[in-house]
Amino acid sequence: MVYDVIIIGAGVVGGAVARELSKLRLSVLAMEKEEDVCCGISKANTGIIHSPALVPSGSLKSETATGRVAEFSRISSELGFRYEIPGALVLGYCDDDLRVLQKYADNGIKNYTQAGMNPAAGYKIISRKQLTDYEPDLSPEVTAALLLPDTGRIIPYEYGIALWENAVANGVELLLGKQVVGARRTGAGLWELSSADGGHYQARFIVNAAGHGSPAIGESAGFTGCSVRNVKGQYMILERNKGPRVNSILFQVPEPGMQKKGKGILVTRTVYGNIMIGPDARTQQSGDDSSTDMEGIEEILSGALKSIPSLNPAECIKTFAGVRPRPEGGDFIFESADNFIHLCGIESPGLTASPEIARRVVRQLIEMGLEAVPRPEFIAERRPLAAETYGLPADEVKLRVALPRGNGERLVCRCEQVPEARIIDALSRSLPVTTLDGVKRRTRAGQGRCQGTFCGNRVRELLSEKLGLPADQIRQRETELSPDRVTAAQVRAIYMKR
Ligand SMILES: Cc1cc2nc3c(=O)[nH]c(=O)nc-3n(C[C@H](O)[C@H](O)[C@H](O)COP(=O)(O)OP(=O)(O)OC[C@H]3O[C@@H](n4cnc5c(N)ncnc54)[C@H](O)[C@@H]3O)c2cc1C
Repeated sequence: MVYDVIIIGAGVVGGAVARELSKLRLSVLAMEKEEDVCCGISKANTGIIHSPALVPSGSLKSETATGRVAEFSRISSELGFRYEIPGALVLGYCDDDLRVLQKYADNGIKNYTQAGMNPAAGYKIISRKQLTDYEPDLSPEVTAALLLPDTGRIIPYEYGIALWENAVANGVELLLGKQVVGARRTGAGLWELSSADGGHYQARFIVNAAGHGSPAIGESAGFTGCSVRNVKGQYMILERNKGPRVNSILFQVPEPGMQKKGKGILVTRTVYGNIMIGPDARTQQSGDDSSTDMEGIEEILSGALKSIPSLNPAECIKTFAGVRPRPEGGDFIFESADNFIHLCGIESPGLTASPEIARRVVRQLIEMGLEAVPRPEFIAERRPLAAETYGLPADEVKLRVALPRGNGERLVCRCEQVPEARIIDALSRSLPVTTLDGVKRRTRAGQGRCQGTFCGNRVRELLSEKLGLPADQIRQRETELSPDRVTAAQVRAIYMKR
C-alpha cells in the first residue's frame, strides 16, 4: 500500500500533525519505535504552556508558540485532558533584575504584535509589598516579580495520549514498536521507509517528527547539517496537595550568564496538586539517558528554595529527567524538500507550539502538492476517561479498596484513589496499553506516595486479564532499560542532613 503521508514519531508533535491530517480525506500511517505513544521527550518535561514573554522574538519558536494559552483551553475541552491557567511569576532578586523583567514584558508584547495578535496580555511588575497577596510563602529575598497571566500547565503525556487516541479514532493508522532506520526516494517518486524489523513502507509524503531520532532519519533522507545537543533536565515531584502555598508557576530571573542554559529552576504545582521543581540543564552524550543524580537534584533543590524556602524535600515522592534536543542555532528546525518535512531540535516550547507546528506542516504538505479534501466525518471530541474519585474520606477508601475484583468502584490504587472502572476504560481504548507505566500515565495508578508499591500487582492482574498473558510477563515499562534514578528516600536523607 502507498500511503498519502507517513509520520515518523508518536510524540506530541507527531500527534498534533496526525490529528490535523485526520481532518482531511487521506491515508495516514504513523510509525513509532516504542510500544506506546509519548515515551520520548513528550513524556518528561515541565508541561508549561508558555507565555511568549519567555520565548525569543523573531524566531520560529515565537511564531509558533505565541497565543497558544487560549487555544489550549479549546483543545483540552475537545480532548478531555486537564488544563489550568494559573499564570506565572518571574521572580527578581535585585535592582538589576527589574531591567530583565521589563525586557521579558516588552518581548512578550513584541511577540504578540509580530504575530498580529492583541498584545493585551496583562503583564505587570509587582512590588515586594503586593507580592505577598499572590504568593504568601515566597522567599523574602525576592524583591519584585513580573506577572505573566498568559501561562498555563498540562500533563504533557495526557495531552499526547489524547491527541493520538483522537487521531486514531479519525482513521490514522498507528504502528507501535516500529523503528524507522532509513528513508530513500524510489524511482517512482515515492518515499520508502525501512524499519528495524525489515519492513518497507511507502508514501508520497513524509513528516519526520522523531524527536531525538530525527537527525539520523533526516540525514538518510538528505537533510544534513542539523546539529543538536542533548541537554538533560532533572525534576523532583512532591506529595499531592501538601507543602507550602504555591499558587502560580514560579520562574526566576536566570543568574548572569545562565540565560542561554534555559528558563531556570521553576516551582509549580502540577494540575493534580503535586509541587514540582526543576529542571537543571546539563549536556550529555545520549538523548535516551533519563537518569537522575544527586548533583542535579541538589542543584534544583537549592534553586527552588530560593523561591519558596519552606519547601519540604521530605515530601519528595520521585525524581525524573527529560532530555532536550537543543539545536545549535537555538531555533526549531523546520526544513522541507522533495515531499519530506524534517522537524528537528523541537525543544521547549515545543509542547506549547505543537498545534501551530502541526498546522504549518499541513500547509507545507499542501504547498508541496498534497491534495487536501476536508473529511466532514472528523470528530473533534474524545471521551474523557472514567471519572477520578480522588478526595474520598479515609474510611470510604478503606471500604472501596476491599471491594471484589470486577466492581468498578473498587480502588485499585490507594494513594491516588483510582477506581477499577477507570483502568478498565483505559485498557479498552483505541491505543493498546501493555505496561504498568502505560496504565500509570493514563489513570494515575502508581503516581502517589507509594509509587505503585500497593497497586502494582493489582494493575498487573488487570493487564494480565486484558492481554491474556501470565502476570509475570507484564512489564513495568516499554523499554527494558530502567533509568538509574535518585530515590525519594535518598532525597529525604539529604534533607535530614541539613
Ligand atoms: C526538560 C524539558 C522541559 C521542557 N519543558 C517544556 C515546557 O514546559 N513547555 C513546552 O512547551 N515545551 C517543553 N519542552 C519541550 C517539549 O517537551 C518538546 O518540544 C516536545 O515534547 C517534543 O515532542 P516531539 O513529538 O517532537 O518529540 P518526542 O516526544 O520525543 O516524540 C518523538 C517520537 O519519535 C520516536 N522515535 C524516535 N526515533 C524513532 C525512529 N527511528 N523510528 C520511529 N520512532 C522514533 C520516539 O520514541 C518518540 O516517541 C521541554 C522539554 C524538555 C526535555
